[in-house]
Amino acid sequence: MNGSSNRRQEQHVVVAECRDGLLRQVSLEAIAAARGCMADGDKLAVLLLCGDGAEASAAAEQLARRAPDEVIAIDHPVLGRYAPDTHLAAVLAAAKALAPEARWWWLGHTAIGRDLAPRLAARLGAGQVSDALAAARGGDGRIELARALHAGKALERRAFLPGDTAIVTVRPNNFAPAEPIAGAAAPIRRVPFDPPPSRIFVRDVVRRASGTVDLAEARIIVAGGRGVKSAAGFAPLAELAALLGGAVGASRGACDAGYCDYALQIGQTGKTVTPDLYIACGISGAVQHLAGMSRSRVIVAINKDPEAPIFGVADYGIVGDLFEVVPAFIAELSGE
Ligand code: FAD
Repeated sequence: MNGSSNRRQEQHVVVAECRDGLLRQVSLEAIAAARGCMADGDKLAVLLLCGDGAEASAAAEQLARRAPDEVIAIDHPVLGRYAPDTHLAAVLAAAKALAPEARWWWLGHTAIGRDLAPRLAARLGAGQVSDALAAARGGDGRIELARALHAGKALERRAFLPGDTAIVTVRPNNFAPAEPIAGAAAPIRRVPFDPPPSRIFVRDVVRRASGTVDLAEARIIVAGGRGVKSAAGFAPLAELAALLGGAVGASRGACDAGYCDYALQIGQTGKTVTPDLYIACGISGAVQHLAGMSRSRVIVAINKDPEAPIFGVADYGIVGDLFEVVPAFIAELSGE
């Protein structure tokens, strides 16, 4: 709260994302981030863009239990696949429906969020903070956001003042997902959408095989480096990840060597992850790799070189051969 009785009420909007018909966890985390920054009297709406009615209904109902004020659902076949111009037009249609109060826009720092946020910022004349790790409301009503700089070596703090229009993308796995609010579910408002003629037509989306758990949102990651030595060497890592309900990741060293797909790369030029548990197998711990995973809550490193820099960030270190240690983990977990 800013303590001022004549403070203008502000509207926060979370742009939610679905994937394969399911609401993405980062959208619930963005709701939590927004809820944590609201002052008394502020409102929070969640915007859901969907391409098929059934999907929209299920996700909208899930959101209605977490959005304090309303869910705005825009359901149109063109929104079934992400295309920058049509999605931007749909978000602007929602902005118009919420005008003039909508000032705070929250998105997940996903492939879609990263593409949509700057377009929205340009169209709304707003400031933008990307990849926020923390968000809090200050006593004077300003909202402070923190983000990592220089491959995670420094933390930058930025603030928006009351009355600013702001776009924020939040890093997955950094905020606890919003829990349902007790009481009646928020109303779902369906906003009509007449898509503009698009210059982009998405014919097909070909997804590379990267396991069943989304790497960016995974709670547990088993990552392999050049020390894994071959594509076949990743099989025990995948087995361990499956036993733990996690995802497989990799260093660039492993990707460059052709052991796995670049979709698995973690680091400065790959994905940024913040799992509860990160198991690094045969990864030296170069600064560019650390940039993508050093904020993991618990890091376990398995490396046969006791001087490997990865031990400098690890909570638990195992100096040993990963081809002995990983099968021992598997045997323990599977009760063999
Ligand atoms: P190595 O450094 O070769 O380490 C292999 C490790 O495996 C060694 O420590 C070794 O002791 C251990 N080992 C070997 N055999 C075994 C065994 N049997 N059991 C246990 N341990 C064993 N890298 C990234 O990962 N992500 C990025 O996004 C990224 N971006 C980059 C951007 C730029 C601009 C540049 C210049 C580099 C970038 N890199 C990135 C590359 C980075 O500098 C390192 O080269 C890379 O991370 C090394 O990968 P690695 O740890 O798998 O391989």
